[in-house]
Amino acid sequence: AQVDGSRARVEVHDGGLSDSEVDQLQLEADLRHALESDELRLFYQPIVSLADETLLGYEALIRWEHPTRGLLPPGAFLAAAEDNRLTSRLGAWVLRQACFDAAGWPAGLRVHVNVSARHLAEPGFAELVVDALAESGLAPERLELEITESTALFAADATLHAVSEVTDAGVTLALDDFGTGYSAITALHRLPIHTVKIDRSFVADVVTEPSTAALVQGLVQLGLGMGLQVIAEGIEDLDQADWLREHGCEMAQGYAFGRPAPLPATVPSTGDVDLTGTLPPGEVTVQD
Ligand code: C2E
Ligand code: MG
Ligand code: MG
Ligand code: MG
Repeated sequence: AQVDGSRARVEVHDGGLSDSEVDQLQLEADLRHALESDELRLFYQPIVSLADETLLGYEALIRWEHPTRGLLPPGAFLAAAEDNRLTSRLGAWVLRQACFDAAGWPAGLRVHVNVSARHLAEPGFAELVVDALAESGLAPERLELEITESTALFAADATLHAVSEVTDAGVTLALDDFGTGYSAITALHRLPIHTVKIDRSFVADVVTEPSTAALVQGLVQLGLGMGLQVIAEGIEDLDQADWLREHGCEMAQGYAFGRPAPLPATVPSTGDVDLTGTLPPGEVTVQD
C-alpha cells in the first residue's frame, strides 16, 4: 500500500494488507490532510463552580469537520492516529490553538487541554508548551494539561522530565478519568497532580447506586485530603450536581452546565463575567 500525499488516497498494490489496515492508513492520510486543510476544530465545554455555578474555564475538545462524514468526535479518529509524528502534530495543533483562543478570554478563565501519553513522552513536548504560551501570551497558570492514569502508569523518564519542565513553568496537571484506571494512587503519588477529574461513568450512577455513591465519596475525599481540586465530569442533571456539592465536590463539568460548543463569536475580553449565559446551545449529539 502506498499513501499518496497529494491526493490523500491510499492505494493498495498487493494483497498483503487487511481491510482494517487499509482503513487505518486511509484514516491517517485523511487526518494529515485535515490538519493541512483546516478541518479540525476545538469545541469548548464549560467548567463551573458548583457553589455558585460561575464559569471557571473551558476544556478544549477536538472535532473534525469531515467534508463527507460530518462533524466527527475524537473517538472516531484519535485512536487511529497511531503514527507518532501524526500524534505529535495533532497534539501541537490542539495546544497552540487552545492557548491562542484562551489568551483572548477574561483573565480569570483557565483552559484545559487533553494530552496523549505518546505526545507527552515525545522529545520537545515541554518546549512546545512553553513556546505556545510565549507566542500566545497566555499566562502559564491559566493552562491545565489533562492526562490519563495510563499515562502515569507507563510514565517513562522522558514523561516525568517533560512533566516537571511544564509544571516548573507554572502549568498545572489534571488526572483525567480518575478512578477508571488501575493506577490512580500510583499516579497521585508519582506526579505533581493539581486536579482530579472524577470519571463520568461514576457520576452517572451516583444518585441511584449506593455502592457507586460510596466510591465517589471516597474519590472526592482522597482528592480533597491530598489538597487537590476535584472536578466531577459528566453531570447531566441537577440531582447529580446537588449530590456532589453536598459531598464536598466544588467543581463540575457536564451537559447540565453546557455541552462542548464552538466559542461564541465574541468572548468578552475584560472583566470577571459569567459567560454561561452567552454560550451557544452547543452540539446536539456527541457520540460516545
Ligand atoms: P475527556 O477528556 O474525559 O472529555 C470528556 C468527554 O465527555 C467529552 O467527550 C465530552 O464531550 C463528554 N461529556 C462531557 N459532559 C458530558 C455529559 O454530561 N454527558 C456525556 N454523556 N458526555 C459528556 P469527547 O469530546 O467525545 O472526547 C472524548 C475523549 O477524547 C476525551 O475524554 C479525551 O480523552 C479525548 N480528547 C478530546 N479532545 C482531545 C484532544 O484535543 N487531544 C487528545 N489527546 N485527546 C482528546
Ligand atoms: Mg479531559
Ligand atoms: Mg474524562
Ligand atoms: Mg474520557
